[in-house]
Amino acid sequence: MDVAGRRAGFYIVHVAHVGSLRKTLTVATITITGLASVVAVALVGITSYLREEGNNLAESVESVRLLEEAELDLLLHARLRDPVVVAEIERRLHSRLREAQRSISTNEESMALQNAQASVDRYLATTHTVDRTPEQLAALLDQAYEQLQVVVAVNLDQAESARRRAIRGDMAARVVGVGIGVLVLLLSGALVWWANRRAFRPLFGLARSIEQFAHGDRTARAEEIGPSELREMAKRFNNMADALAQQREAQIRFLGGVAHDLKNPLSALRLSVGSIRPDGPLPPEPRVRRVLGTVERQIVRLERMVGDFLDVAKIESGQLALKLEPCDVRGLVQEVVTLFEAGSPQHRFAITVPAENIPVRCDSLRIEQVLSNLVSNAIKYSPEATAIEISAAREGDSAVITVTDHGIGIPAEEHSTLFQPFRRVGLSKESIPGVGLGLFVVRQIVDAHGGRIEVDSEPGRGSTFRLYLPLFDPRSAAESGRPALELAGVA
Ligand code: ADP
Repeated sequence: MDVAGRRAGFYIVHVAHVGSLRKTLTVATITITGLASVVAVALVGITSYLREEGNNLAESVESVRLLEEAELDLLLHARLRDPVVVAEIERRLHSRLREAQRSISTNEESMALQNAQASVDRYLATTHTVDRTPEQLAALLDQAYEQLQVVVAVNLDQAESARRRAIRGDMAARVVGVGIGVLVLLLSGALVWWANRRAFRPLFGLARSIEQFAHGDRTARAEEIGPSELREMAKRFNNMADALAQQREAQIRFLGGVAHDLKNPLSALRLSVGSIRPDGPLPPEPRVRRVLGTVERQIVRLERMVGDFLDVAKIESGQLALKLEPCDVRGLVQEVVTLFEAGSPQHRFAITVPAENIPVRCDSLRIEQVLSNLVSNAIKYSPEATAIEISAAREGDSAVITVTDHGIGIPAEEHSTLFQPFRRVGLSKESIPGVGLGLFVVRQIVDAHGGRIEVDSEPGRGSTFRLYLPLFDPRSAAESGRPALELAGVA
């Protein structure tokens, strides 16, 4: 199973969306703190309320005490005859009623007390008159007593209301305290449960996967579950593990490709050389020459392969050093075409270059290597007697070199992958020898020069490879502080 397949199977297990760790902890902390604040404020409010009701209750009790003592004084006043004692009782009576006034808390109580006071005053005043009758006194005494009883009743009512309110306040305090306390407890419990199940479990899982991976298990992947931060961490680890696994697979494929491609020329060499026995008589000269020809071709092929392998190794290790110098593209094109014209008389070469120079700053050997690769592919993948057209021109800020053949062509769907290592396409794979590294090396060299390469091809009609390199302007180089380079011999 490939890496993507393994991952797909692996991730079916979960899709629990749990939100973000930061958000959850922030919300939980704010909620618990908010609830604790509500409890504190509510308890402070309820305590003040209870204290007030307590005061009301105490005042009512005090009023009842004073009024009952006043009632007693009134009765004593009616019974006793000693003028000194009676005067003292009258003074006490007045003082108690004044004192009762200080703890008045409602209008009803105030009115009742005023009535009682008026009745008591009327009764006392009548006791000092000479023309009073005992019946008249008794009636006034009853009236004063009744009025005092009314005030007592009002105070008892108030005390009862205060008591009921205090009980309600006490209940509210219990509900708020116990209720919110239980809520905070449940919330804290839920937070601990959440942290254990949703946060720590994925975290430990991720740590386990990293450890397994570090100990050589390349299939170890982390479950992308839990809060978003942990899912993101797991995702990054999985991506990294996938990238490493793909890199490893590419390395193994590369080594396999190298071994496979070295095998063919080596087998050809073994067969050719094996046909001449070192301990036997030499075969006739024409056969020896044929064998030598094959040996030479295979050695050239091996040299090219080893050269490509070395270039790839340099590119992969980032050691592709370029010796940049000013060059005229026309000279480079001419050089390469001359070389191939001599070795491939079966093809016609048509070269088109302008009269004026096309200056670029490049490693001439490397660009010649690029052109050689393109021209040798054009020869390899097109029938004999067809033309191979090579041209160079300026296009905007770039120098453009095109290599066109009228050969087998490349299907459009292969264009994007053509420049990957060991990529060989279509029929050429079986019938035409090659390693599939040439275009990869070409792309890397062109990229290193700040250029680009494009392909335009159709099966059966041929291919055009278009290479763009930045034009070199010695004047702008001088202005930008770079030493102006001499374009010697490239006029
Ligand atoms: P090689 O030629 O050694 O196989 P390259 O990297 O040079 O490797 O080319 C990769 C593949 O691209 C070739 O195998 C071939 O299928 C295709 N290709 C390259 N150039 C041409 C061309 N001019 N015409 C048709 N196919 C080509």
